[in-house]
Amino acid sequence: MRLLLECNEDISACDLCGSDKLTAKHNNVARCQGCGYVFANPRPSQEAIARSYGESHSYDYWLQDDRIRREIYGTGRLGLVMKYKATGRILDVGAGPGLFLSVAEEEGFDVYGTEMSTLAIRTAETRFGLQLFCGQLEDAGFPDSFFDVVTLWHVFEHVPSPSNVMSEVRRILRNNGILVIEVPNDNFFRWEQIKRVLKNQVKYLLNMLPNRNFQIQKRYTPFRLGGEVHLSYFTPKMLRMILESNQFCVKEQSIGYRAKPTRAIRLARGINLDINRLTRHNLASTCLIIGRKV
Ligand SMILES: [Zn+2]
Repeated sequence: MRLLLECNEDISACDLCGSDKLTAKHNNVARCQGCGYVFANPRPSQEAIARSYGESHSYDYWLQDDRIRREIYGTGRLGLVMKYKATGRILDVGAGPGLFLSVAEEEGFDVYGTEMSTLAIRTAETRFGLQLFCGQLEDAGFPDSFFDVVTLWHVFEHVPSPSNVMSEVRRILRNNGILVIEVPNDNFFRWEQIKRVLKNQVKYLLNMLPNRNFQIQKRYTPFRLGGEVHLSYFTPKMLRMILESNQFCVKEQSIGYRAKPTRAIRLARGINLDINRLTRHNLASTCLIIGRKV
């Protein structure tokens, strides 16, 4: 069992709407009564998160098989972007080891990236020859109306202030520029939670038997050293609200491309896409939104 990450940063008002009416949920999670935004509170500081990730992260899995890069990052993610912009200047926020930018560059885009991890930046440079900015997006100082496309693939849930990121993205995107955000789908985890509650009921009863000790699982588990730290928990509805309140016209909402492409995962994704197209319900573990700056 890894050690817990200390959470000593208290949030007193909602980052999105400014309301101070926050409902405490379990395990350091709060919900804004004003807009419904769900987020970690209290939460670890950015310094503690950076120390926790350290250099323990590895990108070997994603780099060892080039089919993953071409299928998820090329055909999947870049293919989606190219429905709206086939060329121009693209920024990937939290670019990691540069898998997405490398395929974008191969397709002729002029590529830029920001990244917090120095290991990822070194990997992006040695593997793909990419020069990423080290730090938060807000510190990169890109010029006004500079980009045709800005992407955040599984990054928006990690940033300390989604509203600051949205203002900055709006500033550096050209008019009619495209914003793509993909995050974990908190609705999916709500279903998972219902399943867990039912399982836990069974475990609870089993625990009443002598000499039994079944572990009871919870949603929104505490942050652990070296583990993923999600500061926000988004749903498709919340993403739409965020884009629209920042004057983006929502062009498309769908499910994401994160899963490693095995045959079973491709099949499940196809079924989820059909359900999403027909009913607008997203039953997948990821959600994706594309907006145009207006
Ligand atoms: Zn709010």
